[in-house]
Amino acid sequence: MDRHPPAPQPAPTDEVVELCRDLLRIDTTNTGDNATSTGERVAAEYVADKLAEVGIAAEIHEAAPGRASLVARIPGTDPARGALLVHGHLDVVPADPAEWSVHPFSGELRDGYLWGRGAIDMKDFDAMALAVVRDWQRSGVRPPRDIVLAFTADEEAGSDYGAHFLVTEHPELFEGCTEAIGEVGGFSYTVNNDLRLYLIETAEKGIEWLRLQARGRPGHGSMVNDDNAVTALCEAVARLGRHRFPVVVTPTVRAFLEEVSELLGIELDLDDPEAAIAKLGPIANIIGATIRNTANPTRLDAGYKDNVIPGRATATIDCRTLPGNSELFLEQLRAVIGPDLEIEHIQRQPALETDFDGPLVDAMAAALRAEDPGARAVPYMLSGGTDAKAFNRLGIRCFGFAPLRLPPDLNFSGLFHGIDERVPVDGLQFGVRVLDRFLRNS
Ligand SMILES: [Zn+2]
Repeated sequence: MDRHPPAPQPAPTDEVVELCRDLLRIDTTNTGDNATSTGERVAAEYVADKLAEVGIAAEIHEAAPGRASLVARIPGTDPARGALLVHGHLDVVPADPAEWSVHPFSGELRDGYLWGRGAIDMKDFDAMALAVVRDWQRSGVRPPRDIVLAFTADEEAGSDYGAHFLVTEHPELFEGCTEAIGEVGGFSYTVNNDLRLYLIETAEKGIEWLRLQARGRPGHGSMVNDDNAVTALCEAVARLGRHRFPVVVTPTVRAFLEEVSELLGIELDLDDPEAAIAKLGPIANIIGATIRNTANPTRLDAGYKDNVIPGRATATIDCRTLPGNSELFLEQLRAVIGPDLEIEHIQRQPALETDFDGPLVDAMAAALRAEDPGARAVPYMLSGGTDAKAFNRLGIRCFGFAPLRLPPDLNFSGLFHGIDERVPVDGLQFGVRVLDRFLRNS
């Protein structure tokens, strides 16, 4: 009998680079407009093919033509345990090739990095999850609990055509899921050679996008008008834009600041944490946004002719609120802008916060330490929002854990939606090893 040796299995640490590169080469730009967003269907089919190759069946669901998300379930050995959701979005924010050192959709390997829009947000994690489950399927490894994989559309424009659509229209896909991991967390912040903090996201600020409207008396631009809507709106918007809301230290931020200031030998005053935060270097701008509610004016709209005073003027304000602050924030905002402006919500998604404890958190910390003896897992709050907001609607406890070891000098937060977004290849390979360990033990 003729015996063929089995084909050598690709190592997941090699495969992750190929998978990430392939995904980066699929332009999945999300412009926020269905007519001009592109590529999510192609990316979802790519992922479905990669899963099908190793015998994992996946379903693609479209919220609108082309707005494709994909879900698959890998059965665990103990079906009595709740399932773990592993989610990553496939869309990316736009990138202008003229501003980049390489083409943003070239997936170029250069200087030890894989370059491209989505390299850290978040095709890196999509590729890690794919590499791990493909390796398991080939080697016959089964996870302890069911793993639900979700690769979503539209995260970069609020998730209405991605995670929120899946949760609203197909909640059965997530049946039994009790916990979830996704972005934005698990990345390292180097303190010194022997100590790296890995920031695990356990909280997210809430999103409140508001439209403020002032009404006044329309009229001719040449005449006296003491009830001008543009003037009233601008006064209120200027006050709001310069206002600093009071500092509130939530349990997550408190845990982060206490641990980090001790490790770094920074003096911490919890009534005035800004001095300590200023000493955190590259992560100061991440943490600084999580100690208060914020309100940033982003759009203005009024008038239609140079010599006509319009009867109304509107502004859009991007507000982000701390957990439990949604109602209080509106009172605070009203006090700043005064009683006359109308307030309308354009987008409202609540903040999230969960405890940094339990077996899943222990498994994250242990997997990190096994691959990096200098690893210390710490909780933190994300000032932005992610697909976790959608999955939390199902009662799923959500964490940001997309493990990535970064070189000490890399400005990681600056790469998010930034020019020359790139991921270190060794960091990506580290991530695969940590994710594999974590999922085997979760
Ligand atoms: Zn993202």
